[in-house]
Amino acid sequence: MFLIDMHVHTDDSPDADIPANELVARGLNMNLAGIGFVAHVDLDPEDYCYGGFEESIYNRSIDLARREAGNRILVLKGIEVGEPHIYEEQVKNLVDYSNYDFVTGALHSLAGIGMVLGSEIYADRDSLVIVEQYYNETLQMVKEADMDILAHMGLFRRGLALAGLEYDFNELELWPDTILHILEVIIDREIALELNTSGLRRKENITYPTMDILALYKNMGGQLITVGSDTHREPYIFYGLSEGRKLLIEIGFTETVFFRNRIPLRRNLLP
Ligand SMILES: [Zn+2]
Ligand SMILES: [Zn+2]
Repeated sequence: MFLIDMHVHTDDSPDADIPANELVARGLNMNLAGIGFVAHVDLDPEDYCYGGFEESIYNRSIDLARREAGNRILVLKGIEVGEPHIYEEQVKNLVDYSNYDFVTGALHSLAGIGMVLGSEIYADRDSLVIVEQYYNETLQMVKEADMDILAHMGLFRRGLALAGLEYDFNELELWPDTILHILEVIIDREIALELNTSGLRRKENITYPTMDILALYKNMGGQLITVGSDTHREPYIFYGLSEGRKLLIEIGFTETVFFRNRIPLRRNLLP
């Protein structure tokens, strides 16, 4: 398959349970070209992973993974920072970004509302108002945060599906200006857009972001795409990568990127 999965959690995240070196062995079996590991760095007290990041332990597990990998598969060290537009200063007191290959920015929760990926927040609110706020806050995040990759844009569909609510609306028709603006900002700031395939294993059966948004990004001249499975545990290891690759080729992308020392490097998508 020769892809690099740029969104893989190890047991260094409280919500994931496979050691990095074991994931390297699994990646070799699947013929991956590389693995971009991430650990959650969440400083929102409401987040399940709050305070769960131990840099020295994470360093050790990446070292072990690199030893297991040798030169057979690329091992990249990243972090997934939750709400970096709000917590960046605190995160940077804990973590020196220059020690990482990449920093992924993720919006998991909305200020004053709560976690978008669970069902709870949708119980007594208009779900479209929440989704609109999600995109407004995503815009704030990509404008302000020091980040290399925009993670799983559209993750609210997981929460909507769990809550039994409708999730097959087209946000590009509802808030075209905001989404256009987000894509303009990430193109301008050279932040890569992640095609996250974890929605393909869930009820909503959709990528984050949607195909329509990926196609718009391409039409606007966007070129920096990463692919990530958001692997956390069995049975979904590196799930949806070949499907993701197929979708990107359908849209007309010929390359994806990965990051080393925070610099984007291109990789051919075509065989
Ligand atoms: Zn995430
Ligand atoms: Zn993640």
